[in-house]
Amino acid sequence: MSDSRTPQPLQLPAADATRDWVETRTREGLDGVRALVEALRTSPPADALGVLRQWDEVTLRLSNVAAVGSLLSNVHPLEDVRTTCEQAEVAVDKLATELRQDRALYDVFAALDPAGLVAGAARLLDKTLRDFTRAGVDRDDATRARLTEINERLTTLGQDFSRNIRDDVRTVRVAPERLAGLPQDWLDSHPAGEDGLVAVTTDYPDAVPARMFAHDPDVRRDVTVAFQSRGYPRNEPLLTEMFALRHELATLVGYADWASYDAEVKMIKEGPAIPAFIDRIADAAAEPARRDLDVLLARYRQDVPDADALTAADASYYEELVRKEQLDVDAQLVRTYFDFTRVRQGLLDVTGRLFGVRYEPVDVPVWHEDVAVYDVFALDATAPLGRIYLDLHPREGKYKHAAQFTLADGVAGRQLAEGVLVCNFSRGLMEHDHVVTLFHEFGHLVHHVLGGGQEWTRFSGVATEWDFVEAPSQMLEEWAWDPEILGSFATNAAGEPIPADLVERMRTADDFGKGYQARTQMFYAAVSYWFHTDRPADLTSAMVALQEKYAPFPWIEGTHFFASFGHLGGYSSAYYTYMWSLVIAKDLFSAFDPANLFDPEVAGRYRDRVLAPGGSKDAADLVADFLGRPYTFDAYAAWLAR
Ligand SMILES: [Zn+2]
Repeated sequence: MSDSRTPQPLQLPAADATRDWVETRTREGLDGVRALVEALRTSPPADALGVLRQWDEVTLRLSNVAAVGSLLSNVHPLEDVRTTCEQAEVAVDKLATELRQDRALYDVFAALDPAGLVAGAARLLDKTLRDFTRAGVDRDDATRARLTEINERLTTLGQDFSRNIRDDVRTVRVAPERLAGLPQDWLDSHPAGEDGLVAVTTDYPDAVPARMFAHDPDVRRDVTVAFQSRGYPRNEPLLTEMFALRHELATLVGYADWASYDAEVKMIKEGPAIPAFIDRIADAAAEPARRDLDVLLARYRQDVPDADALTAADASYYEELVRKEQLDVDAQLVRTYFDFTRVRQGLLDVTGRLFGVRYEPVDVPVWHEDVAVYDVFALDATAPLGRIYLDLHPREGKYKHAAQFTLADGVAGRQLAEGVLVCNFSRGLMEHDHVVTLFHEFGHLVHHVLGGGQEWTRFSGVATEWDFVEAPSQMLEEWAWDPEILGSFATNAAGEPIPADLVERMRTADDFGKGYQARTQMFYAAVSYWFHTDRPADLTSAMVALQEKYAPFPWIEGTHFFASFGHLGGYSSAYYTYMWSLVIAKDLFSAFDPANLFDPEVAGRYRDRVLAPGGSKDAADLVADFLGRPYTFDAYAAWLAR
């Protein structure tokens, strides 16, 4: 949080000049990288620090091309700009992969003498060498050729696996009278076809309300079975091949198995720590799960007196009934307190106060008129810490989810941190869920900016371990659940703040089921880990065994959930990460006084010791620096048991 950084923010072009701007910037950026790398290979600086500085310049230039490509391909209103940006992303990916496989370049780093390097530089050298060896650059030619082949095949398999899930939309045809319970606007938009039946597809806008609201249990069951059959059987052989190739890749570069290879660069560090974590959470969740399942089952028995269990086909329906009948939260009433404009201002006020920063609006060229831009300053500073862009409403051609995108990595004295929040919120009243999402995503944005004062690009902003990176955002969600904080900006049309007792009921309703939801998550995490580690021949029976061990609801005959479990592609053996960062988030939050979430001492310490260091230290050390002790499970377990 010093004022010594004076770099200027990036000037974006006008919308119709963007394509040329991106093309030029990509070409010049990548040409610059190639020239720097060639110089490193042939006439490297004499000292280790000089080599690292030149390499960091390569990293910064690659990151700048990648960031603009990734951001504008997702948000720019002009299709030709989006296409150009996608090409830029492909080009930068290709070059980055080439560099990791570059033996001559690796030899330059391997020959460096780390003696005399200060901690940050030594850490950078370590990580850089590890990137190379993980890519197999130090293996013989035949092995490297095989690794290239495996990587290419894995890319194709991943794409085919996702496409099979996306394209396998199934339909259940139902007589209109059997759809009683679904919301009227859903029924109105789903008229019967020529056969007199209504088509209910396995897409979320159909499957979710059908499972949640349809009074007819057979409808819920048919939709659930169809939903959990997507991707089957086509994806089974693809997954089997994917697990085998990942295992082969990991063993070729010297690891026991894929999970060990993957875990090495995460906070959890070791593959076998994953099942230990899964069991620990599953045990902690056992009692809270049973407690809420008993409530669900009791309500179920009012309709099915002799039942001794319910399945996933009935779970969301009865969960919804319990929330409505016993926990008394009216979602329609809740919305009236969350007007978008006031929520956005509230977010800036709350986070400004918490992190000791102020946001000053600036009027600069942007890709769309919806985008609001602010410079972020430390309270007493005149030079900005960074710049943020808020692009918060849906439009055609725009990214459909909610995420933080990097526009520029912050590097002390060289480049200002700039980040973009890309979301799809309504312009009027918001659901409270969306308010929580806004706080969550803003947590990534503020991490990016506050962590943007690093010496090395590699450690800038959110460059922490992947299983930690969600923790600061999950923690910031707590500020969107505090009755007093919400009361400061969540006011209805008459100007009345949201009542504290309504917020308390919302929390209770949100907490209902957290134990069995944790068990469900651990079932998914176990599938993700054991499918990679055991590589079972029969995926269905392996899944059923894990479901019996961990899941709150029994297997439904004929279903194959794993075939549409998309995270087996991107997260591979590391689905546990969501829960891992939640455990850390609860531990971090335990340092705050619930009666004074803005305590400047705690908040300042959190900002300076967890967010500001970016990836310059291991996440476990950041957490320990803030808490004054190593992280523990206690806060999470206490929350679960509450
Ligand atoms: Zn997140």
